[in-house]
Amino acid sequence: MAKAVCGRFAPTPSGRMHLGNVFCALLAWLSAKKQGGTITLRIEDLDKPRCPAGSDMLLEDDLHWLGLEWDTGGSAGGKDAPYYQSRRFDIYAAYFAQLQKLGLTYPCFCNRAELHAAQAPHLSDGRILYAGTCRHLTAEQTAAKARTKDPAQRLRLPDTAVSFIDGHYGPYTQNLAAECGDIILRRSDGVYAYQLAVVVDDALMGITEIVRGCDLLSSTPQQLYLYQLLGFSPPAFIHVPLLMAADGRRLSKRNRDLDLGFLRQHFVSPQPLIGLLAFLAGLLPAPEPVSAKELLPLFNWQKVPHNNIIVSEKLLNLFKL
Ligand code: GLU
Repeated sequence: MAKAVCGRFAPTPSGRMHLGNVFCALLAWLSAKKQGGTITLRIEDLDKPRCPAGSDMLLEDDLHWLGLEWDTGGSAGGKDAPYYQSRRFDIYAAYFAQLQKLGLTYPCFCNRAELHAAQAPHLSDGRILYAGTCRHLTAEQTAAKARTKDPAQRLRLPDTAVSFIDGHYGPYTQNLAAECGDIILRRSDGVYAYQLAVVVDDALMGITEIVRGCDLLSSTPQQLYLYQLLGFSPPAFIHVPLLMAADGRRLSKRNRDLDLGFLRQHFVSPQPLIGLLAFLAGLLPAPEPVSAKELLPLFNWQKVPHNNIIVSEKLLNLFKL
């Protein structure tokens, strides 16, 4: 029997949800529900200072308002709820130790300036390929540096290509050494990195389908490598196009005026907003009010565009945004 589909929302509560986050959550919800599956809500608050107090509750309230209900997770377990990454450090520590035992990690003392040195190769998405400066430090060099600085911990990535078939974009391949570089598993302040936490959590929470923005497509091969090292079986990955502002920049939480705080002042009900997003997703021929549930019969990945989607001024004017 095929495994039941379990999708997830994995928001970082660094501010109010944005039109782009809602677009992605809507598609994740539609995909899981259309297959009779469930959704888990995980609050990705690893970087505590970036997550204002109370933003998790606003996030849950916004998801309820939108009709994007989840089945497990979130704050339901009170202050001990296991679906907050900030409460799972011991779990990440155990998996990190496993990688360390395999001899696959090493301390890195490079500071920001060293990482951004002029010769550092930039990847196509703007990230910097780590030059491997600390990869070959001797035990003495490491001990000497550790006297004055806490190191980050990196994972050695091999000169190997990792391929997978994205559920929306199709085949995708990356050479780990040349296109990812040794990734950080734990920051110098002791905070575990997103790449490790997301793999451990999705695996332990039984997630079978990950729907997320295509900005994370290039993180997927390194995450698949972590799945392999930790002995987990990977979920299906489905990446979705990003919503872009008319000037070609990505819609983000910086565009304050398109966050749910603003949008809920303008829309008394979520239907016009869901309708706008459904139109952008190719599910409706024109933006008209609809609920998430009403979209289920219309949902089909084949209708969803592949190119990033410009949210034009004209469209926003139509909604008086
Ligand atoms: N927490 C990430 C974000 O809000 C999403 C990570 C993921 O979907 O893998 O952008």
